[in-house]
Amino acid sequence: MRDFAAELQQRHDAGLYRVRRHIDGPHRPALNADGEPVLAFCSNDYLGLASHPELVAAASAGLSLHGLGGAASHLICGHHSEHHRLEETLAAFTRRSGALFFSTGYMANVGVITALAGKGDTIFSDALNHASIIDGCRLSGARVQVYPHCDMTTLESQLAETGGHKLVVTDGVFSMDGDVAPLRKLAALCRQYDALLIVDDAHGFGCVGPDGRGSVLEAGLDEDEVPLVVGTLGKAFGTSGAFVAGPPLLLDYLVQKARSYIYTTAMPPALATASCKSVELVEHGQQRRNQLSRLINRFRAEAAAMGYELMPSATPIQPIMIGNPHEAVRLSQSLEQQGILVTAIRPPTVPQGESRLRVTFSAAHTDEQLDQLLAALADCAPQPIRQQALVTA
Ligand code: PMP
Repeated sequence: MRDFAAELQQRHDAGLYRVRRHIDGPHRPALNADGEPVLAFCSNDYLGLASHPELVAAASAGLSLHGLGGAASHLICGHHSEHHRLEETLAAFTRRSGALFFSTGYMANVGVITALAGKGDTIFSDALNHASIIDGCRLSGARVQVYPHCDMTTLESQLAETGGHKLVVTDGVFSMDGDVAPLRKLAALCRQYDALLIVDDAHGFGCVGPDGRGSVLEAGLDEDEVPLVVGTLGKAFGTSGAFVAGPPLLLDYLVQKARSYIYTTAMPPALATASCKSVELVEHGQQRRNQLSRLINRFRAEAAAMGYELMPSATPIQPIMIGNPHEAVRLSQSLEQQGILVTAIRPPTVPQGESRLRVTFSAAHTDEQLDQLLAALADCAPQPIRQQALVTA
């Protein structure tokens, strides 16, 4: 048998061992982690909807009306009219012909990519795409060409050299860096080289674009230019589940072929009921988006003035770059001693030498809570940390 214990020990020694914290109570910035009160700056509840009373009420009403369990997969007898209503709501929200509701974003990416690409095809994937995209690419059996992050020159030469069916897949807002893919250029290249473009905007929906309709609409692109977009409901929408939105032909194809759609129990109908309400709150959430922008701008100005290295991100994902994983954990622990929860992100989630603290903001954070984060950061001597990290990375 493989020496699993030794492998775990190596992970420990390399500063890469990961732990789960036990959270009590509803998800909001001030919560209890492992029994201690903390102020969290690491969730993806970007609009602060995860415990919004209107969503909780919609879920409760849905439970009373429709019961709890999904009972069967969609193609047996699990496809409930509430799922259908959510799909129509999401299609209207994303300004697309239709939408298909998946159980998670992970399953949506794996299902879409494996259904649409296979042996003999080529997938072009950004080097910083989310793990679920990477796994979808691997499972598909297609040839995979990874292009350097947002490097359109390399992508173009790869596309030009490749024959056969081509699929290009990218995060819209990148999950660990917070930057936005060059979507207009991607769409133009896909048109020129006859490739199908899929954009996973898990972190864009709710936060970016007109009324939070995502980075594809923000870039002024429609369904002809970007045929498929993937979104999750577990982040800004504050619920759970995911969707793929696009033209009926492709969605029909996915219903027939996407194994992670077909071979799993449908999500509880009440979750779809709550998600319909959530789409409404997101559409009308401009005040929340304004609050987010205020927090982000203030954080960026003040953290940079303290000497922290930030990424060029205007989204709620604001990584503080450290480099060395041990140093990232040390900073995370120092903040936690001051009651601030920000998880250290290390390889393999990010490339070697790019360990970081992934600070994320929520419209539910107050200015006073941001003051607390900034005061704790000010206490943590950024310059020595960064210099030491560069030496030991
Ligand atoms: N895509 C991206 C870019 C993500 O960051 C995530 C979640 N971290 C997912 C997909 C997966 O979504 P879900 O959590 O709904 O499985």
